Amino acid sequence: MSVINLKASEVQTREARLGSITGFAGTAGELVGCARAGTLKESERSFSQCMGCSSGNAFCQFSMIQDAIVVNHAPVGCAGDFFTFNFVYRVGQMERDLSPVIGRYFSTNIEEQDTIFGATQKLADTIRKAYERVRPNAIFITTSCASGIIGDDVEGVANDLSEELGIPVIACFCEGFKSKIWTTGFDAAYHSIVRKLVKPPEKKSNKVNVINFWGSKIFDELLNPLGYEVDYIVPFSTVAQLEHISEAAATIQICSTLGTYIGAALEQVYGVPEIKSPPAYGIAGTDRWMREIGRVLDSQGEIEEVIAKEHERVLPKLEEYRNKLQGKTAYLTAGAAHGHALIALLQELGMTVQGAAIFHHDPIYDNGDVVSDALAHAVNTYGDVPNYNVCNKQAYELVNILNKVRPDIMIARHGGMTMWGAKLGIPTLLIGDEQLSFGYQGVLNYAERILESLDNKEFVINLAKHSTMPYTKWWLEQDPFSFLRSDLDVKIY
Ligand code: SF4
Repeated sequence: MSVINLKASEVQTREARLGSITGFAGTAGELVGCARAGTLKESERSFSQCMGCSSGNAFCQFSMIQDAIVVNHAPVGCAGDFFTFNFVYRVGQMERDLSPVIGRYFSTNIEEQDTIFGATQKLADTIRKAYERVRPNAIFITTSCASGIIGDDVEGVANDLSEELGIPVIACFCEGFKSKIWTTGFDAAYHSIVRKLVKPPEKKSNKVNVINFWGSKIFDELLNPLGYEVDYIVPFSTVAQLEHISEAAATIQICSTLGTYIGAALEQVYGVPEIKSPPAYGIAGTDRWMREIGRVLDSQGEIEEVIAKEHERVLPKLEEYRNKLQGKTAYLTAGAAHGHALIALLQELGMTVQGAAIFHHDPIYDNGDVVSDALAHAVNTYGDVPNYNVCNKQAYELVNILNKVRPDIMIARHGGMTMWGAKLGIPTLLIGDEQLSFGYQGVLNYAERILESLDNKEFVINLAKHSTMPYTKWWLEQDPFSFLRSDLDVKIY
């Protein structure tokens, strides 16, 4: 279990805190075994095509707080993905029945001479100008490789400006070069929120925190009848809402990769219990998750009634979907915990998971408990998965494996990955809304979407006929892990 230290201005990286890795090839069971035995080692790549950045992941969480603004203390190139955050924010607001306002994001535009003379004055000026324009209720500063390398005193500027403007001005240390695991940026954002924004509880409330990205509001239906209100955090929340999340009755995580740090921080620092269970994907996972909710919220009786009712409603329909999907094969690429949950979901539907390219692996979460390990749950409940690759979006590995296993469908969680399946003529399903497949209804939703994709192959078949692939025939014939140094003897099945 990691110890949450709110006195430190920055959070430790996932590599240092949890022993997380970005390189592995083997089976899912072998990965779980290594993680449990404490023998998990990073398999280094001698060639890397691309990487994500912690700063972007931190920014993504702040960029959707309704009444806050974000100042990226960085060269303007680091702001290249502002438009994506704004797009997701605007679409997400509509899904949450909010008026779609534009995101308020600013860059200090660190230039060459600033890297010599320092850029703290530029940062202070940017914050003042942004405050005059927007009058937000909080300002978050995200740092960058450049601000970290020149050693700007970002914390000092934030503290001075907080006093001057009378609102929280909060530094978030998320320099891209510090961690190979870009989800360290989520932890950095949450560390700064818990450290500088969340207030100690004055009373206990009937709220339940749901740590999520965006997507549909599915938790009200379950929790309102139990007498609880839902606070969806952090995207689409307000500064005032975040100040009081320490008063909640419990914290739910839609994905442990996203919420491991803030869930543990709220429990350790303020005693808000975290729901510790595999996430509710697939029937077995949902049953366990529901029972844990019932235990923590002292609503066991009501929860057992919901489980019985939902089984009666969902299981016959699930059987119909299983009959249609039996024997179909799938390959998956996604972030860690959500990818693990989808493996369980696909197996629940009777499909054969031929492999997965999952962006990183946390052998343990911040709360130290092993029950929440969604991959262990999938392997123990449904069986092992071959061709399991921890792969931080190295497209060359993905394309090579896909070309060899040729699944009936490829499932992707991130937009940029879908084209690889389509270019090979493999039907590819992208679902960005994690809530769509959550819980009992989620199993049926997902089955329906898979069947729709399998029924509409013409588009990808034609696309493949007219596409070119940047990878040569030579590469596609090689071992996909030629550039990955692994201790395991890996075979592609
Ligand atoms: S913070 Fe560093 S890694 Fe991230 S976008 Fe900027 S330069 Fe690139």
